[in-house]
Amino acid sequence: MRLVLIAPPGAGKGTQAARIAARFGVPHIATGDLLRGHVRQGTPLGRAARASMDAGALVPDRIVRDMVGEAMAHAKAAGVGYVLDGYPRTRAQARAVHRTAAGIGMTPHVALHLRVDDEEAVRRMLARAAAEHRPDDTESVIRRRLKLYHEVTRPVVEGYAERGILVSVDGTGTADQVTARVLERLEEPAWPTICTPPLLSRPATVEPAATPGLMTGCST
Ligand code: AMP
Repeated sequence: MRLVLIAPPGAGKGTQAARIAARFGVPHIATGDLLRGHVRQGTPLGRAARASMDAGALVPDRIVRDMVGEAMAHAKAAGVGYVLDGYPRTRAQARAVHRTAAGIGMTPHVALHLRVDDEEAVRRMLARAAAEHRPDDTESVIRRRLKLYHEVTRPVVEGYAERGILVSVDGTGTADQVTARVLERLEEPAWPTICTPPLLSRPATVEPAATPGLMTGCST
């Protein structure tokens, strides 16, 4: 399973990504967690990323691209797939990750999009900020991150729809309800072979088809 997960902040993507990764036995590569780890440890990368993170802005592409490239190469060496959480967040990052992944035969099979409306996302993030003391989760930062999501990340979802690998799932409800919805879609027994070239006329969500292919057969 090679999956990228795209969702607005507050959609619970970290929880869902971890569960999907556990279910399919693949590493969970979360750019936000990796960056927070660097910040905690005070590495040069963490120092370079911190100001952007605290402001609710994106850290420079080069930093995340190198981090993800390294994690993907590890997954490749281990002979497994991945669940990529928090990347790509822009069209430029989507192009970069495709280039990196294609270079090592690791392009995604599925782009999973979790849908949650803004007010629900804000409510959840404020609750999480209180519970986890996350300094990047004040209300003004949360609103800025949501605005950024609509402006620059949402177009990435359209890009994956055009590529024919988008699976869009309702992200409202409890974490368990969302997981059940997601796994139902990911475990559909029959899928189109997803490693075909981009099909511009494909619909926004992938429907089951007669040819299996989600877990097998794709080498690029
Ligand atoms: P997350 O935990 O995924 O919400 O990410 C937390 C913060 O890390 C974001 O608000 C960004 O500042 C930074 N970040 C995570 N992923 C990326 C990315 N793909 N590109 C740029 N910045 C990122």
